[in-house]
Amino acid sequence: MATEAEIVRRIERIKVDLAHLGDLRPGSLSLQYNVCGNPNCRCKADPPQKHGPYYQLNYFRHGRSRTGLVHPEHLAQVRSQIQNYQKLKLLLDQWIDASIELDRLRRLGNPPAPRSRRTT
Ligand SMILES: [Zn+2]
Repeated sequence: MATEAEIVRRIERIKVDLAHLGDLRPGSLSLQYNVCGNPNCRCKADPPQKHGPYYQLNYFRHGRSRTGLVHPEHLAQVRSQIQNYQKLKLLLDQWIDASIELDRLRRLGNPPAPRSRRTT
């Protein structure tokens, strides 16, 4: 079992990692192929040659699901932003788990006085 000092050090490392995260972008990328409105276009041929691929970003923000097209030129940037966001969520989870573990350890080390009615 980890000691209190070990968990405190783990949390400090998580904070350093958080401080060095780059730009963030929630969501995931998918490839899209489209059909246009021109009846004589190759996308209506048999077999159809649809337009694309286009990179579409799907994400959920402020209670709404959203999509946006990503220009191929910005693809690497957006991918790295998505990775940073995933790392943010992972680090937050680790911080929360470590905090709960730390709190439990501290309570074990400082049990409330037997007759105390205080619950905090
Ligand atoms: Zn077309």
